[in-house]
Amino acid sequence: MKSILLLSIMLLMFSSGFSASEGNTEKSNTPAELLGQLQVKDSHIVDQQGKPVQLAGMSLFWSQWIGKYYNYDCIKWLRDDWQCSVVRAAMAVGPGGYAQHPGKELEKVETVIEAAIDLGIYVIVDFHEHNAENYLNEALAFFGHIAKKYGQHPNIIYEIYNEPLKISWSKVIKPYSEKVITAIREHDPDNIIACGTPMWSQKVDEAALDPIDDANMVYVLHFYAGTHGKELMEAGNKAIEKGLCLMVTEYGTTEANGDGRVYEAETQQWYNWMDQHKISHCNWSVADKNEASAALVAGASPKGGWTENDIKPSGKLVRKELQKKWNQLFPQ
Ligand code: MG
Repeated sequence: MKSILLLSIMLLMFSSGFSASEGNTEKSNTPAELLGQLQVKDSHIVDQQGKPVQLAGMSLFWSQWIGKYYNYDCIKWLRDDWQCSVVRAAMAVGPGGYAQHPGKELEKVETVIEAAIDLGIYVIVDFHEHNAENYLNEALAFFGHIAKKYGQHPNIIYEIYNEPLKISWSKVIKPYSEKVITAIREHDPDNIIACGTPMWSQKVDEAALDPIDDANMVYVLHFYAGTHGKELMEAGNKAIEKGLCLMVTEYGTTEANGDGRVYEAETQQWYNWMDQHKISHCNWSVADKNEASAALVAGASPKGGWTENDIKPSGKLVRKELQKKWNQLFPQ
């Protein structure tokens, strides 16, 4: 009896000691612990030591349509198994989104933000709207609230306009952005703000001619490897030469409509280009929709825990790249 009791105590000590040390290790090895407060310096996102960093991760799908992956367990799986250092919460605004149901969509975004903070990864808070200038009041309310509530955490990256359409940078996007930036900076003086560029976030060279006056701005470039190639990389090069810091908050391995097939070689060329410039990136998307860019097969669990059978070809290709990027962040 005595020996059983002793054994139980020893087991208890061992198990609690083990979990405590596991907890510590986990905490000191998160991207946010390692990199801390990010800022923009000389066309790069740099960490708390001033060293250029390249975040890599996944974008969630439109929140109003596939909101089931906006939960803690899924974000934890994306960190632990896919090894994302960043996730993107793509909050829908227009049809059925935040403009109509502010409380409901905000709750999804805050769930992802709080998971990311707890798990020590970065989170792009994306106003996922193609006509954001028509929702200026919503954008001011939303980003003012997020900045006030979470702006003291290094984890937050604001993406204030997802893909603007064929509209003027200087006449429409820039004035909209400046107003939203003012609302954010009232509460958060330092976190990075990402701004979309004309033509579905491709005309970064146009933004480079008339940049926004804020020290921690990045400009968004989106590509779909089956549609966009050298020409878009050239526009990116031009913008970088003019001093812009770029971020790829969304890309696809497929064609621009999110479908078609997976363009593996072309995606690799983009990875090479982004590595060359240390550009952070998120893949579109964590979704089980019947389209090639969706990472998951229909019915894949909202809570993560996905096996090889749950992951589609695009997801497999991207997951491999994310694991490679994580190993560069945390070399063995
Ligand atoms: Mg801050």
